[in-house]
Amino acid sequence: MSRRRQVYEGKAKVLYEGPEPGTLVQYFKDDATAFNNQKKGTITGKGVLNNRISEYVMSRLNEIGVPTHFVRRLNMREQLVREVEIIPLEVIVRNIAAGSLSKRLGIPEGTPLPRSIIEFCYKSDELDDPLIAEEHITAFGWASPQEIDEIMSMTLRINDFLTGLFTGINIRLVDFKIEFGRLYENDQMRIILDDEISPDSCRLWDVTTNEKLDKDRFRRDMGGAAEAYQEVARRLGILPEGGPRDLKGPDTMQ
Ligand code: C5P
Repeated sequence: MSRRRQVYEGKAKVLYEGPEPGTLVQYFKDDATAFNNQKKGTITGKGVLNNRISEYVMSRLNEIGVPTHFVRRLNMREQLVREVEIIPLEVIVRNIAAGSLSKRLGIPEGTPLPRSIIEFCYKSDELDDPLIAEEHITAFGWASPQEIDEIMSMTLRINDFLTGLFTGINIRLVDFKIEFGRLYENDQMRIILDDEISPDSCRLWDVTTNEKLDKDRFRRDMGGAAEAYQEVARRLGILPEGGPRDLKGPDTMQ
């Protein structure tokens, strides 16, 4: 395992060459970063939980016909995914004002938005993932107008589905970030969802108490991040066997 080729190391994940051509192994770390790497830390068990949560969400999306890169979970911290050509965009969906939108536009956190809003950021750590317009995307050739249309319609479908999924477990989907890639198959190209969907990339608030069950607990030094991720997994019915005790995971899985 240790001799396989590392393809990419990100802040929360590592990608290794997969067992077959066109596949990758996505490894989930416990490392947490915020404000583009200015704040660094660890959330114990996060990698194990995000592997499970992302598996669950991507599998449900696959079932309703939203194509994703997820193939199957391999172990506590790894999943097999399809290799895609990265589209360098972070697609953010907002249902309720929070985070950078609240700051930028002076709208208090928690204000319901008149409708769901999709934003695009350019994926670049050096530039801090700047907010961009569709004009930039097409002018610089990051995606075509048709691809943007497809990304937007898939994104709205994902938002509808996830909003319902989380409402069913008494969680409000405030906002989230997703990424897409191009999959080439038999001379055809399809856009599919890649990366992960987890409390690292979503704002999730308890409907009754408004308690934050996501990475804002780490970003804002609130404490209880590991417990919050566990709570999301518990409500989804997917806590690893043996419960939280399993979360550290044996070193052999690292
Ligand atoms: O910080 P901001 O309010 O723009 O974040 C909006 C949503 O996108 C949040 O759910 C956040 O977790 C997610 N996000 C992310 N990765 C980034 C930027 C934002 O997962 N680089």
